[in-house]
Amino acid sequence: MSPQPSLFVSHGAPTLMIDPSPARDFLAGLGASLEPPKAILVISAHFNAPRPTLTAAAQPETIHDFGGFPDELYRMQYPAPGAPDLAARIALALNAAGFDAATHPARGLDHGAWVPLMLLYPEADIPVLQLSISMNQSPQWHYELGKALRPLRDEGVLIIGSGGATHNLRAVFSGSYRLDSPPPPWVSDFAGWLAQHVEAGDHAAILSAVGSAPHGRENHPTMDHILPLFVALGAGDDGPGQRLHHSTTYGVLAMDTYAFAA
Ligand code: ZN
Repeated sequence: MSPQPSLFVSHGAPTLMIDPSPARDFLAGLGASLEPPKAILVISAHFNAPRPTLTAAAQPETIHDFGGFPDELYRMQYPAPGAPDLAARIALALNAAGFDAATHPARGLDHGAWVPLMLLYPEADIPVLQLSISMNQSPQWHYELGKALRPLRDEGVLIIGSGGATHNLRAVFSGSYRLDSPPPPWVSDFAGWLAQHVEAGDHAAILSAVGSAPHGRENHPTMDHILPLFVALGAGDDGPGQRLHHSTTYGVLAMDTYAFAA
């Protein structure tokens, strides 16, 4: 059994499931191209907690954590089993690495987890659990959190950071962009910078992206959608990663997927 990769997936809008897009097509083919994992650990932008928290429900509910979208989206269910024993074990491993981790007995799967998973693994037969981000913590802290997760890949756990390579919601809702609008330079410059530094394996530069990449703050006015990238980076191999996919939706949402493994 070869180690599972650590991935970063840009999940875009909840309508990723229903709107046709290159990212949707790419993600729908990605799962079948990977060795089937034993379990999937998702670090989603939409699960923020003050301390690292693992979902430990045996049968996690599908959380429709968005408003104002088509009814069809609210009917969607992703009935994958949870992994309570694995959650408890990961919490222990994180505590041994110096984190103050906890489990949550009831929390389900937010759309940062189930929307991409519905495309990657539509059968929903692989156990899924989530680990929170902490908005009060730094990029480096999230990178170290990822490093503590690295051994899980050897036992068949697929690690997925789920956020957005760029994520300025004010620009999305400005009315200036359609689903298939081309990206403005401030978006493509940042997305290109990120790809270049991932492919050069410059982890220190990646961790400082919001402060030092072109238009960093404009693309990430808040940190929630890039913090999962830092966890995935830490959980991957040292050195270069790969950009597996690049496209944009609504002009300003880069839908890039990265793999951090040889
Ligand atoms: Zn999101």
